[in-house]
Amino acid sequence: MIATYADFTKESQKVMADPGHRARINAYTEEYQQSFDKASSHFSNLELARRRAAHLRWKTINHLDKYLIEFESKVIRSGGKVIWAQDNAEAVEAINAILKKQGQSKFVSKSNSVSRDLANSAQWQKEQVEVMEVDYGNFILHADNDQASHSVLPALHKSKEEIATAFSRHFDVKDKTPEGLAKLINSEMRHSLLNAQVAVTGAQFIVADEGASVLCDDEGASLFIAAQPRTGIIIAGIDSMLTSLHDLDLLLTLYGTYSTGQTLRTYNTIVKGPKQPGELSGPEELYIILLDNGKTEVLAQEEQRQVLSCINCGACLPASSIYKTVGGKAYPGPAQSVAAPVSFGTSEYKYLAELATLDGSGSEACPVKINFPKLVLHNRKQFVQEGLNSNNEKLFYYAWKKSMLKRDIISWTGINARNKVIDAYYKSKEGLRQMPSAAPKSFNQQWREKMGYR
Ligand code: SF4
Repeated sequence: MIATYADFTKESQKVMADPGHRARINAYTEEYQQSFDKASSHFSNLELARRRAAHLRWKTINHLDKYLIEFESKVIRSGGKVIWAQDNAEAVEAINAILKKQGQSKFVSKSNSVSRDLANSAQWQKEQVEVMEVDYGNFILHADNDQASHSVLPALHKSKEEIATAFSRHFDVKDKTPEGLAKLINSEMRHSLLNAQVAVTGAQFIVADEGASVLCDDEGASLFIAAQPRTGIIIAGIDSMLTSLHDLDLLLTLYGTYSTGQTLRTYNTIVKGPKQPGELSGPEELYIILLDNGKTEVLAQEEQRQVLSCINCGACLPASSIYKTVGGKAYPGPAQSVAAPVSFGTSEYKYLAELATLDGSGSEACPVKINFPKLVLHNRKQFVQEGLNSNNEKLFYYAWKKSMLKRDIISWTGINARNKVIDAYYKSKEGLRQMPSAAPKSFNQQWREKMGYR
């Protein structure tokens, strides 16, 4: 769930005043960089691999309509069923209908960034359906009723003490060390997996030419899910499409490298239809839910469409100064700065595009070379064309432009006036650093004095 502007400001003020939070994000960023450097050294030419991946994804996204139809027909041919869901609510409804048909009131969920919101839907409580999470990070979030901080490693913002406290509310926690907590998660997840009749999992990619779904993780739960439960439900974003299994060669390697700094994620499972006669494992019934969630709106925008090339690796997060400061619970990352205002409503989410720093760090970190500064500027241009900018903002930029174009105006305002503007604009909040005051004499003044100019 993407935070509204009000929730974003509330959460970021809280997090910015928490040095522990920032220390955890920084520690992760350093660790990630080291693993990434090691894993990326396996590419003989990383830049060429990125260019190829960008081209593959762009080509696929531009013909998505054709590939979706091909994918659907291949899934049906191998005995699976395809459900099209416009948004999360429709996907939840579809899963609920399958559960009712099977006479089940619980399911295991191996959530990823696509399916996480579905597994956390308030609807399950109303329907009295039990959701048993079998993804490490999401298991922790589920226990603490919290939100993800990173698309691939959702609970990286949690300290071991916070995890132990959250678990104590649900389980008898005897060992509060990281090893003890991991053991507890393993045992709970194993119990859920062994008894699962229905499993819901998020696909990393879907493949048109084979009607296949690709599941990736490091714990092996997705492999188990693909083999054991009677009914399998796979949630796939329509934009996770690849044209052919051959594309996996490049994209799985890039995904492993950029998501967790591994040469490949530990378990990569390809699911192609339900169990066939003579096969020993696999679901008897397989449903693929193709989730739109506003992607069609993005696809309709010729410029912003490029953001659909995203492979949800999360690499742009640690590269972003906003993420490093406020974390990912409030800030969903550069890709959503482009997509969310188009997908979910400009007035509610335009703040994400306005927030973007345009420094290009996200693009440099992105394996599919999404040009964030260009796309964000397109968003901003659209906001202006639609007349969504307030009069105060227009006035501010009018004054800003005037003074930036005329040095005399800046000099005339004097240091005190500028300090007042800075103070008013960057109001200090409790627990946050104060804005430093400007020097008593501007550089311009000092230079003039030094050079003897009038
Ligand atoms: S935008 Fe690029 S870096 Fe960010 S999650 Fe998507 S693919 Fe990864």
